[in-house]
Amino acid sequence: MAVNLRDFFIALSENKVLIAGAQKFGLRLGAQSVVAGTNVDEVVKTIKRLNNQNISCTVDNLGEFVFEEAEALEAKKNILNVIEVIHAEKLDAHISLKPTQLGLNFDKEFCYNNLRDIVGTAHKYGIFINFDTETHETLYESFDLMERLHEEFDNVGTVIQSYFFNAQENIERFKDYRLRIVKGAYKEPADLAYTDKADIDANYLKLIEYHLLHGKFTSIATHDHNVIAHVEKFVKENNISHDKFEFQMLYGFRTEMQEDLATQYNFCTYLPFGKDWYGYFMRRLAERPQNMELVVKQVFNK
Ligand code: FAD
Repeated sequence: MAVNLRDFFIALSENKVLIAGAQKFGLRLGAQSVVAGTNVDEVVKTIKRLNNQNISCTVDNLGEFVFEEAEALEAKKNILNVIEVIHAEKLDAHISLKPTQLGLNFDKEFCYNNLRDIVGTAHKYGIFINFDTETHETLYESFDLMERLHEEFDNVGTVIQSYFFNAQENIERFKDYRLRIVKGAYKEPADLAYTDKADIDANYLKLIEYHLLHGKFTSIATHDHNVIAHVEKFVKENNISHDKFEFQMLYGFRTEMQEDLATQYNFCTYLPFGKDWYGYFMRRLAERPQNMELVVKQVFNK
């Protein structure tokens, strides 16, 4: 049953008609509790509140699977605006972006140029840019673009998804980068990725340990208390300094745990905002159908 629900929400997340329809409305269906608003002013307020709790933020100006040049340029403009605001307001925040938002699906060189403008501007201000990883279809193109930019700028890093069979190869390739390590959020074919939760979890711990021991900086991005407990024990036993890693969670999930972890470790909240909330929100429902409680609460509060 859980598997069917996952497939159902993933299919909804990719439905172009629903994606376009949702853009016309403000946040709906309970997405308000996990998306920090639709404009920059709203997100800045949230960053300031979280910074006051010793929580840094990675800001995602929502958008993905873009197929129009004008839309990709609009996304670039919006991300550059967020970078300027982070700098001007001296916020403890950096950027997460999706390369398909900037044209990767239809013109790799155009996408590279957009990314270069963003990374170059952020570099000037010492702001880090994370390349979120999407499906296997764009994974290696995204890695290549990031690696190419890394030759010029050191403020880029990416994400390793533990459900892929070759995740270990990917992590070794980017050993010298700041990396976020996750389980993986998309539906991938069974000849490329583990589908069994126990396999994904075991690989996840292996990758985290590898990067904590050999890598530059590790962002452990999970809401899984078992993984967090394992990491806490591992860093203690291996004398890994607290400045070599952070925990990350998504805005609106396990808030008390986020606040508690921030009193002991570096902690970063992933803060999505903008009008393209729909695909992001559907993937959160796919990951954990219990997140439907957000939808139900919203419907009954009205
Ligand atoms: P799960 O496997 O979903 O949950 C494990 C257990 O934790 C559950 O059984 C439950 O007991 C507990 N639990 C989980 N959530 C809750 C909750 N809300 N309340 C109470 N208990 C809970 N994926 C990508 O593919 N690419 C990316 O670039 C990417 N970036 C991410 C960035 C961040 C900051 C985070 C947190 C996730 C990101 N993801 C990304 C998504 C990730 O791949 C997983 O799909 C997602 O985090 C769900 O896996 P999990 O590790 O949180 O735990």
